[in-house]
Amino acid sequence: MTREGWVEAHAYLQPVASLCAAVERAAREMAIVNAETPSWDDYDGDFRAGVPLVRSEGAAIDRKPAGAAAASLVAKLAAERSPGNFAADAALLDQALRRETHGARRVVDWLLGEDDFAPPAPGLMRYLGWTALARYLSPVVAAFDKRRNDELWLRRYCPTCGSPPAMAQLLGTDPGRKRLLACGGCGTRWQFPRTKCPFCENDSQKLSVVTVQGEAGLRIDFCVPCGGYLKTYDGQGDEDLLLSDWTSLHLDLVAHDRGLKRRAASLFALDWASGADA
Ligand SMILES: [Zn+2]
Ligand SMILES: [Zn+2]
Repeated sequence: MTREGWVEAHAYLQPVASLCAAVERAAREMAIVNAETPSWDDYDGDFRAGVPLVRSEGAAIDRKPAGAAAASLVAKLAAERSPGNFAADAALLDQALRRETHGARRVVDWLLGEDDFAPPAPGLMRYLGWTALARYLSPVVAAFDKRRNDELWLRRYCPTCGSPPAMAQLLGTDPGRKRLLACGGCGTRWQFPRTKCPFCENDSQKLSVVTVQGEAGLRIDFCVPCGGYLKTYDGQGDEDLLLSDWTSLHLDLVAHDRGLKRRAASLFALDWASGADA
C-alpha cells in the first residue's frame, strides 16, 4: 500500500497529507543530528522503576539539540510559502520561540509534559516539535527496541518518551497473539496486555471492536467501562502508513459518532487537519 494510493482512496485526507509531506520534506532537508546512545546499564534501574528513557537521569539524553532542531524546523517553515494558515501559524511560533529565553529547551520539556510553556498554535507546535524530536531520537529508539525486555515494561505509556499511545497493532495469530501500543510522538511500539484498556487499566477482557469495511485491517477497539477507544492495525507490513494516525483520521469520526472518546494522544488536533483552512 502506498501513501499516494491511500490518499487517493480517501480524498478528505488530502489537506493533512500535503502538510505532512511539506513538514517531512523540510525536516529531511535540515539534516537533524541524532541523539547519542545512552549507557543502558546506567538506565536499567530507572527502566525497572517505570521511568521512560528520555526522562531518566541515568540515561541522561541531551535534550538541547532536539530543541534547537525543533526551533529550526519552525523557522524554516515560517520562511516558506506553505498552504493555508500553516505558514502564518509557523511564523507566530517562530516569533514566540525567539522571544522566549531558552525557548528551544522549553519546547522539548513542554512536549514531555514537564514545562508549562504556552505557545501560540499549540497543536502545530506539538506536531513540529515531535517531528524534530522523533528524528533526533530515531537511532536510540531502534537500539532501545533491540535491547528492551518488553515483558518488564507492559505499562500504558511509552518506554522511550512517556507519552500515552496514539494507536495499537495486533501481531501474530492465536494463541499467543500480541498487542503493541504505538507512540505517536517518538514512534516506539511496545507490548501491552491484549485485553487491558490502556486508559483506565480495566482488564475485563471486554475490549469491543468496530470493524470498518475496506480499511486495510484498521479497526476501532474500545473499552466499555471508560468509553475510550484505540485505533488498531490488525496486520503487518504497512506500519509506517497505517500507524501514523493522520491516515485514519476518518476512523476518529466513526468512533466519535458512536459516542466513544479519544483518550489516545494526538499530534493532529489541528484546525487545518480537518481541511477547513487549507
Ligand atoms: Zn514515545
Ligand atoms: Zn477503559
